[in-house]
Amino acid sequence: MPKFQEVPKSDTNTSAATVCTESLIARRYLVKERLGRGSFGMVYLVLDKKSRKGEELKVLKEISVGDLKPNETVQANLEAQLLSKLDHPAIVKFYNSFVEHYSFYIITEYCEGRDLQCKVEEYKGAGRTFPESQIVEWFIQLLLGAQYMHERRILHRDLKSNNIFLKNNIVKIGDFGVSRLLMGSCDLATTFTGTPYYMSPEVLNHQGYDSKSDIWSLACILYEMCCLDHAFTGHNFMSVVLKIVEGETPSLPNRCSSKLNAIMESMLQKDPSRRPSAAEILKIPYIDQELQNIKCKFSNITMKDRTITSQKEALQIRNALEKKIHLQTLREQSEVQKMTPRERMRLRKLQSADEKARKLKQLAEEKYQENHQRMQKLRCHNFQQVGVDVLHEYNEQSPSRMNQTQPVSAHDYRSLGQPELNGKMISDRLCMSEPADYEIPEDPEAAEEFYHEDDFESCSDENLEIEESEEETECTIFKTYEQDTDVDALVRCMEDVLESRSLDSSTVTTMAPVVPQGPTAINCTMAETKMNRMRESAIQKLEADVFQKVYDYLKMARRQNANEAEVKEYLEKLGAKPSNCFEVDQLLYFEEQLQASATEAKH
Ligand code: ADP
Ligand code: MG
Repeated sequence: MPKFQEVPKSDTNTSAATVCTESLIARRYLVKERLGRGSFGMVYLVLDKKSRKGEELKVLKEISVGDLKPNETVQANLEAQLLSKLDHPAIVKFYNSFVEHYSFYIITEYCEGRDLQCKVEEYKGAGRTFPESQIVEWFIQLLLGAQYMHERRILHRDLKSNNIFLKNNIVKIGDFGVSRLLMGSCDLATTFTGTPYYMSPEVLNHQGYDSKSDIWSLACILYEMCCLDHAFTGHNFMSVVLKIVEGETPSLPNRCSSKLNAIMESMLQKDPSRRPSAAEILKIPYIDQELQNIKCKFSNITMKDRTITSQKEALQIRNALEKKIHLQTLREQSEVQKMTPRERMRLRKLQSADEKARKLKQLAEEKYQENHQRMQKLRCHNFQQVGVDVLHEYNEQSPSRMNQTQPVSAHDYRSLGQPELNGKMISDRLCMSEPADYEIPEDPEAAEEFYHEDDFESCSDENLEIEESEEETECTIFKTYEQDTDVDALVRCMEDVLESRSLDSSTVTTMAPVVPQGPTAINCTMAETKMNRMRESAIQKLEADVFQKVYDYLKMARRQNANEAEVKEYLEKLGAKPSNCFEVDQLLYFEEQLQASATEAKH
């Protein structure tokens, strides 16, 4: 029974998102939308209500395990605990796992840039290719991630482009160690997990899986990034298998560097022991040089980001200070809010009168200074005149005219936005605390309108908005800082790799062999889940009756060792596209493998 139900978002224009109709999962995860269907179950984007700031969005994988035996569940949980302790910028962080409602849940980091397969398809569709510098950068990140996990004896077993995720253009390997947790660690489990395109010959031949099998898969991913196609292709499952086991090693096109091609070919050697390990590839001079270049580039990015961050922090401090002052003003204003409309209006009028008085006082002082200077000049002038013509008599008016101070003109007062007033009125206005010419309504609503007309600033809502937008800025700054941590961590990883090299450049550290631990048998429940999913998917593509015909024919054809051209022709006659029959072929292969292992176990 599905646990999540499609319910429309409140905004009907956006696509319908999957929303959990139940309460929070494990009392903290809220389903936001469905990201897709994985080979074991549904994958959702969730909001973690208990997360650290900046890490709220996570991925929840719901794996329906039906009647998973208690010991299998315990084992899976123990392995999950180990996985949650790992931390590397090129590995999708595994946060948590738990069992609830007969399902096994895995919580991982969310990568907003989707998976590499999507990116490859997008570029292929647009007729574009990735620049080699970008490919090498991603390839090195993958090697760093693989080296980290392999050093800790954790194998991926299902490396493929749709298990590689992009986050701020950094690639991250997803599901590292998860296949073992779900399927067990025997050979057959690996066969069941993998996608044939990336499977190594030793896995297909049941000759064991080790870290070098992951290296094979990484080479297939490198080929895919360069050519936007699989390294080994075929019309159906068996032809792909044949090419991997017996076919020639593919090469990169001429436009790619020969050094990169040589590395890829060495990773695709049929004998796993001859393939280099991730640590060894990172030491190859060509990769080493690129590693140094990328490290410099990333260091510059972090440096630039740090400068930006400090600038942003300075801005934040300034904003905080402004906010503090602003809050003080708000507090004062809140005192105002408590007043009655009449008191408020009176206060406002008083404030405006005070302001006008201040301006008038200033104006009066200026005028006084002006007159004073003029008088001094005149005195000086007259003194000189007196000196020249002492015997001349002045008429009575002259001294008074000289002493006369210039009154504040009506024009000056008008410049303050007031109607013309005589001197008496001005002095009256200066002492006035009660508006003489209009009454304030007692009714609060009417009073509010009154204030509004009077341009009385309301501080509340507007100021709240300012505060909210400030909070948003803080959040964005925080996010940028969170993003930087991946780049920082990557720089540190690259420095470690480069430093360990300069300490002892002669020794090539050989990988510790990966010892299989935990369950050595295949987890039959999970194998069946996977096979059921494949069957469902094939039926959906072919329709039930065609599926049955294809299934019966392929079963017979595989027993009789029919050649590929013959198989292709027959399937086309049935009206089924060979690409749609791929899963039927793989399903048959799995069934045969499972049967063979059951027979072996009996003997
Ligand atoms: P599979 O079982 O084939 O490996 P997954 O379970 O990994 O498939 O993924 C199913 C879907 O969920 C895909 O569309 C994938 O892109 C998406 N997805 C899985 N993990 C993440 C993640 N960490 N971040 C973003 N999308 C993811
Ligand atoms: Mg996956």
